[in-house]
Parts: sequence; structure tokens; C-alpha cells
Amino acid sequence: MTQDLRNVVHSYDRAREEAHTSEFAASRELPYVNLVNFPFVGEVIAIIPRDVAERFRIVSFMKIGHNVRVASPNPFAQGLAEAMGELGAKLSLTFQPFICSKSSAEYSLTRYDELVAAVTGPAKAQTKEQFAVRISTLKDLKDAIDKVSTTELLETILSGGLSLDATDVHFEPGETAVAIRFRIDGKLVEVIDLPEKTYHLLASRIKTLSHIKLDVKKVAQDGRFTFTVGEQHIDIRVNAVPTAYGETIELRLLTFKNFLSLDQLNVSPDTQKAILDAVSRPEGLVLFTGPTGSGKTTSLYAVLQLLNKPDSKIVTIEDPVEYRIEGIEQVQVNPADGFDFPQALRAVLRQDPNVIMVGEIRDVETAQIAIDAALTGHLVLSTLHTNSAAASFARLLQIGVPKYLLADAISLVVAQRLVRRVCAACGGTGCDVCYQTGFRGRFLIVEHFVPDAQTIELIKREASLSEFEEMFKKLGNRTLLDDGLEKAAQGLTTEEEVRSVA
Ligand SMILES: [Zn+2]
Repeated sequence: MTQDLRNVVHSYDRAREEAHTSEFAASRELPYVNLVNFPFVGEVIAIIPRDVAERFRIVSFMKIGHNVRVASPNPFAQGLAEAMGELGAKLSLTFQPFICSKSSAEYSLTRYDELVAAVTGPAKAQTKEQFAVRISTLKDLKDAIDKVSTTELLETILSGGLSLDATDVHFEPGETAVAIRFRIDGKLVEVIDLPEKTYHLLASRIKTLSHIKLDVKKVAQDGRFTFTVGEQHIDIRVNAVPTAYGETIELRLLTFKNFLSLDQLNVSPDTQKAILDAVSRPEGLVLFTGPTGSGKTTSLYAVLQLLNKPDSKIVTIEDPVEYRIEGIEQVQVNPADGFDFPQALRAVLRQDPNVIMVGEIRDVETAQIAIDAALTGHLVLSTLHTNSAAASFARLLQIGVPKYLLADAISLVVAQRLVRRVCAACGGTGCDVCYQTGFRGRFLIVEHFVPDAQTIELIKREASLSEFEEMFKKLGNRTLLDDGLEKAAQGLTTEEEVRSVA
């Protein structure tokens, strides 16, 4: 338990550090940025020479035209303004100061050498191990696909997919050719067209690897295989579906990039603190809500990683189990065989785990069992399909959860959306790194609702949605939109992107 607590305490301190830094920035009327796990670009971070970066703990993280955003824990350090003024004059650049935490600066500086070496390093190595590292743009990948032999084609496409952070690879046969498309940051991006003949060989290879029948082309088939790039092993889920022009194959890349921390997801410090408060208690229900594709499962996994310690028994109930996590028992529901969420939950409770993660609460039966568990010494994490934190209370009452149970069980609701992150290489103007979209990577915007005594009264008299919404505001909570606009003001995303989801 000590280790468990220490980990939670560490995260708690980290959330507090970011919260303090954010307040300090506001008091100095400077923008705040969290750079822990920021997707730095070598060319940008290298703008500030190593000795200057080290001396002032300053890091450049984004370049937009001649404007460069730089962050440090103390932008008022003696000599810093002069040093930056000189550098700016020499390079014809203007520096815009941001405030970041000490941890942000430390993290950035530990990555300095590695990132700078990647852009200024020796001529391109051609060994296969380094291949993945060298594909940094879509154009690199197209060039590579044009050059390699058919036997290396699958390796090239998958290495490219990994380097470009694709989550899925689609092969879509058309009338004359087969289109390869990657899903990156939730959007499909065209990669290249393959001749039909080449695709046949590739498809056979994929089907053999994933134990899918080669001769069956009329029905959908699922399979799985493991692929190795350098030292990284990744699981790939395969889905083959017949279409008018042939067989469409979709590969889902189940990489560890999907396991992100709350910091990496840019969850605001106050919400991180609320999450850590709620999950450091031995019981209670913690809900993540949002529409499909808002990253709810990603949040659950981020919390599970935090709680995953040898002395804590964690069981998950999922549909389907996508990512295997060591140290956690993962149960796959199978409604077709009658093994649904309520059944699985009852079975799991007999093992008396400390933490239970239920993929989604869809019906009153699941909700009731989950709430019972949360009231009897289990920490229960789950997701709900509602648009706001306030709406979750109204929804659970509406599907028939008994009000007294709900009032006692629920400890936190977080509503969330995924937004695209402004590309660090070009600052949103469009470049090779972001496939001209101006965005690279995604993060979360959030709002949270910790029910207080007054909210519990509302639950007990089954108040309406608008009453919960009013209470949310009365408690001084920030909305999803507030959080999003703040992140847009920090330059992490755009107002348009925020308004399209919140
Ligand atoms: Zn870009």
C-alpha cells in the first residue's frame, strides 16, 4: 500500500505543482504551458543553444513564422532578457515568454540532446532497425513505399504507421487501385495507392500472419498478429471485409502510445487534482463522460496505470479488451453467450477486488451493481454517454438508479472531449510534420463536478437537468468550453477546434 500511496502522492504533488505554476503565470500576466510529455520538434527546441537553455532552464517549444514561444519557470531571471534579446537579433526571431513548471523545464531539458541529435545527426542510416525512426513525414513514407520490394512492404507500411502515430491502417480496393489510408488524430489521411497485384500479395501475407482463412472472401473475418519494429512489439487487430471491388482490410495498431498519463493528455491541473483525490479513496464511483470518440477509455487507462500496483487487486470488464495491461485482470464480456456487463460484474465482485473498471454503464442493472460495489468498499471507475458532467446525475436518475444509492456512491464526474493539438513544428500554418493540417496529436479538454452537500440534496429529490447545471455553475466550476478556450489562448489548440466539440 505504501508504494501505491507514494505514487498517488507523487501525482498529487505534480498536479499541485502545475496548479501553482498556472496561478503564478496568471499573477504575472504571462501565459502558462505544461510541457511534460510535450511533442517537441528537434528544429524548434534547437533554436536556443544548449548552454543558454541549461543556464536559464528555458526551452523553445513552438515556432510560428518568426515568432518563437519559449517557456521557463522564471522568465524574470537575471540576464535572461538580455540573452534572449541577443539571440533574437542574431536569428531575426521574436521570443514570446511563457511560464512552465520546474518539472516541465527538467523534462524538456532531459530530451534536448536526443531531439537535437535527431535533426543534426549523421547522414541517414539505412539499417532496418533505424528505419522506423527515419520516417517522419508522409512524404518519407510514400518515397519508402515506392522503393521497397513487395516482401518489405508490410514492414514499411507498419513502421510508417507507428512513426506517424497512426491508430489504424486501411486498405481500400477501388476500381483500378487499392488506396492505403491512415487514421491519425481521429482523421483519415490518404497515404498512397497500390497496384492491385501488389495488394493481393500483401493481403495474403496479412491473412497468413493473423490466421485468417485465405480462401474465404465473402464474409468478414477477424484476426490478430504481433509485429516487431526494432525492440518494440505491437499487437495488431485485423479485420477483413468483402466489398464490391475486393477485400477491405483494416489494421488497428494497439501501441503503447495509447497508454497516456493525465499529464500527457494535458488534463487541467484542477481536474487532475480532483481525479487524484477521488481515486486515492478506497471506495466510491468515478465517472468519465462524453460522446463516442471523446477519449473516455483513454482516461480510464490513465487512471488504471496510476493505481496499478502489486498490492492492489484491479479487475476490468471490457467490450472488447483491446490493450493487455500487466498486473490487471481483464474480463471480456460476451453478450451473445449471455455473459453481459451485469453478469461479469457479479462474477468479478466475488473475487473482492480493490478497484473495478467497468467499460461503460449502459443500463440500470449495470449501474445498480456498480453503485452497490462503490458503496461496499470498492473503487469503481466507469464511463457514461452524456455531454456534460451535470447531465450525468440526471441521466443516472432517469435510467432508474435509486436516488439514495446514487447520492452516497458518486464521488466525481469528469466530462471530456478530445481536441487536436496545434503542430509544434509550424505553429498551425501547415507543414510536412502535420500533413499540412496544422495539427499533430490530441489532448483532452475537461470539466469536473464533485458533488457537495447541496448537490446530494438535488440528487435525493431527483432534480431536473437544469437544476444540476445551475449547481455546477454555482460551485464555480469551469466548463468544457472555458477549459478549451484557455488551452486555445495558450496556443495548444484553436478556438475553432474547441467550438467544434464543446
Ligand atoms: Zn505542422
